[in-house]
Amino acid sequence: MVEKDLKEIRFKDNFQGVNPSISDSSTYAFATAQDMNDTFQGEKEQFLYSRHSSPTNQQLADEMAKMEGSEAAHVFASGMGAISATLLQLCEHGDHIISSRTIYGGSHALLKNVFPKWGITTSFVDITDLHAIENAICEKTKIIYCESLSNPLLELADIKEISRIAEKHRLTFIVDNTFTPLIFKPIQLGADVVIHSLTKFINGTSDTVAGAVCGSADLINSMKDVSSGCAMLLGQTLDSLRAASIVKNRQTLELRMKKHSENAYYLAQEFDKYGINTIYPGLRSHKDHELFHSQRSKDFGYGGILGLDLKSEQRAHLFMEKMQEAGLGYLAVSLGYFKTLFSASGSSTSSEISEEEQKEMGLSKGLVRISVGLDHDIENTLCQMIQIYQYVDQIYPMNDEVVCN
Ligand SMILES: *Cc1c(COP(=O)(O)O)cnc(C)c1O
Repeated sequence: MVEKDLKEIRFKDNFQGVNPSISDSSTYAFATAQDMNDTFQGEKEQFLYSRHSSPTNQQLADEMAKMEGSEAAHVFASGMGAISATLLQLCEHGDHIISSRTIYGGSHALLKNVFPKWGITTSFVDITDLHAIENAICEKTKIIYCESLSNPLLELADIKEISRIAEKHRLTFIVDNTFTPLIFKPIQLGADVVIHSLTKFINGTSDTVAGAVCGSADLINSMKDVSSGCAMLLGQTLDSLRAASIVKNRQTLELRMKKHSENAYYLAQEFDKYGINTIYPGLRSHKDHELFHSQRSKDFGYGGILGLDLKSEQRAHLFMEKMQEAGLGYLAVSLGYFKTLFSASGSSTSSEISEEEQKEMGLSKGLVRISVGLDHDIENTLCQMIQIYQYVDQIYPMNDEVVCN
């Protein structure tokens, strides 16, 4: 046997550790004063200050770029940090954004309540209506923004078709792919930029908040520019210790996504058979089922999120409280955790959206969003959930209800 020189094997750190070393420096020494000059002028590349980049954060960014098939990526202290920095980088005073109306509540509030203060306005459209998108375009439009699978209604954006519209009008098409990592590859389908809240599936352990932007090297470099970059200057810097832990959790994402999807698919089918109003793109009854099927990468199913419409707030609340009491998961916002998480979207994560708008977009007060966990015995989970549903029916029978949605 030939003796192998371990140095030939590429390790993640300099000490043959199997995991990345965690960079523990906010600043980096330059060999010469000229080197420092050149680096700040952008003529030389080295780490200069950790708000700009650090070895561990760069490693996570590289993993993200690889996963989304983009030239480059940058990581942030939160998903909202990634979203706000990207939009502010691409827009100036007077510019206009076209956004799906069914997006994460925080993103909706940012576009609706904060950006207008700086002269950046947004038209919210039904993203499944291609004519509505094209009709909303005006001279000042810069961006089309949507989520691959919308929160919380699980509507699907036709990424290929929307990217054609964006290309025709020279707009930047940004897709928030937080709900469907690995399942959709928006850049392959024609999107320009992909954003992730790493807080959800990608980290998967609900122990940190983080975000990422994947896009062209030009975009990412402009965002990191020391004198004009919104990633650099707004300062939403991810801590290296957290970046290292996300790099490790990223390694099990393939396995986890498969299992989340498998469990959610099973539950959705069974709930549907049982006559419970179930929203899940894996069901043939879902209006975007065919489109989902044609856009997805095989192997990772239809995702881990499903919606159950309990028809009223009262019924939804009781259902969730009983689920938590039974140990089936937590009444908590967020998603992508190994335990099941559930919340009534109308009064929590989408509460930024006015009641009138919620009604208009078909968001029922009784909608419970469930991020299905990695339960090993999902049949048992189903049994318990059905029992709880029956209990809710006993306490608040449907026909006694004034259903006000
Ligand atoms: C959670 C979430 C965000 C915001 O991410 P944070 O990490 O909480 O800042 C953005 N988009 C979607 C779709 C989300 O689910």
